Amino acid sequence: MKKSKEFAEALTSSFAPAAYVLNETERRPYEIDWRKLVDQPAEAVLFPSTTQEVSDMVKLCQKHKLAIVPQGGRTGLVAGAVPVQGIPQVIINTRRLNQIRNIDAINNTVELESGVILQTAQEAATAIDRTFPLSLASEGSCQIGGTIATNAGGIHVLSYGSMREQVLGLEVVLPDGRIWNGLRRLRKENIGMDIKQLFIGSEGTMGIITAAAIRLLPRPKKTLTMLAAVKAPDFALETFVRIQNLCGADLTSCEYFTAEGLKLLIDHIPQTALPFTDNHPAYVLLEVMSLDSSADLFARLEPVLETLLADKVVNDMVVAQSENQRLALWKLREGISEAEKAAGGALKHDIAVPISVIPSFIEAVSSEIMRIAPGYKLNVFGHLGDGNLHVNIVPPEGVSLSDLYSGSNPITSCVEKNAMKAGGTFSAEHGIGQLRVSSLMDYHDSVELDLMRTIKKAIDPSWMINPGKVLSHANQTHARH
Ligand code: FAD
Repeated sequence: MKKSKEFAEALTSSFAPAAYVLNETERRPYEIDWRKLVDQPAEAVLFPSTTQEVSDMVKLCQKHKLAIVPQGGRTGLVAGAVPVQGIPQVIINTRRLNQIRNIDAINNTVELESGVILQTAQEAATAIDRTFPLSLASEGSCQIGGTIATNAGGIHVLSYGSMREQVLGLEVVLPDGRIWNGLRRLRKENIGMDIKQLFIGSEGTMGIITAAAIRLLPRPKKTLTMLAAVKAPDFALETFVRIQNLCGADLTSCEYFTAEGLKLLIDHIPQTALPFTDNHPAYVLLEVMSLDSSADLFARLEPVLETLLADKVVNDMVVAQSENQRLALWKLREGISEAEKAAGGALKHDIAVPISVIPSFIEAVSSEIMRIAPGYKLNVFGHLGDGNLHVNIVPPEGVSLSDLYSGSNPITSCVEKNAMKAGGTFSAEHGIGQLRVSSLMDYHDSVELDLMRTIKKAIDPSWMINPGKVLSHANQTHARH
């Protein structure tokens, strides 16, 4: 193709060899999403190492009329960071934009580039006795830019909030190549529209985030981690409510998984340590933290734990006695996505409902799925304390996941409609990407969709940043109701 050749020539004459790959073999890993559901070619994969380079690359893509796919650690679960079918695209991967520019224990802020791995940011915060307020199972691979672009949630939303709550300022390369320097580090600023919010959660459809200022929090000095085995979701909810009533914001995590998730771990993750000798239908993982180094968290929790057991709300309970035991308990919850992937994958849903209706929601969905999709297994897990559940359906052998994702299917309709009926959402923390576009069209408010499209057109008139993601394309009609 002539266009590709001209672009390749311009690229090689403008940038160092470390800043791009053109050949198919080297491009391949960047063209496939984490779940291996989408695999589409790009003209090139670019690796800028400075904000100015990002800007120059965006201008070059504009000049050659090539769309751009911003890409971070590629751990997104809705295929937002890989190309869509049928459009000439270039991937701009941020892994070389990886400097921590400044970290400050007095202002409690860190300014870092978008390619910094989340775990590296956490370690930098710990080194100055602070907490980086975001933690996810993918933290060893996902990048700051990706977590901002997806407004990631994770295991500490209960007390710290999602990524949106952590961002103080942003630096962004806009679709026309201009650099917006909004890297302010203030807690307070009232100057009309808060422009950074347009980029947080926009999944790369508004520009390329190149750096961010993030708030840091005091580092907890004491941690108590417990796993409770329960009979059913209503007992899980009761456990959460009683412990939150006692601990308030000190309860930093409340996670849920079931016997199905545990079975996937046992079958697919070597050396999974079983927490209990008996099998139980469901489990709640709770973590309480304190800033007070002299706090005796077990003494504080003991009366409520005893009552939970005496009232038979909880069947059995383990409390981690060491950091190793704590990590082993967390592995049970955080290993489920990997185990599910090793088992061949699942039809994933990422819903949220008001926490009070979690038991009735699970009951309604389970019985409907059993009726409409016999042979499919329900693997429900997630952030119970936030009302955010991953309602994943493992298909029987021989059923292709890609087929389930192409077009609407009755299983997804069942899960999402029940979530909406319960006053919830079909998309809690993973975003829309290219896998949830039709759900957005189905369920989102049509006025809100029109506003989103108007803003997108104002910032990216030629629709060249991450086309086919979130809003699909410029001429898409508004929601079907
Ligand atoms: P990518 O996957 O590379 O990209 C995600 C989206 O952001 C894409 O649309 C991409 O175009 C865009 N993007 C990436 N970088 C930029 C940038 N610099 N500028 C503009 N746009 C950009 N998510 C949660 O919220 N909570 C969880 O608990 C959670 N657990 C997970 C567990 C596992 C095992 C896995 C595999 C994933 C999990 N995720 C979770 C999903 C995923 O880790 C998050 O969505 C993460 O925020 C994505 O970061 P990334 O760097 O990998 O982004």
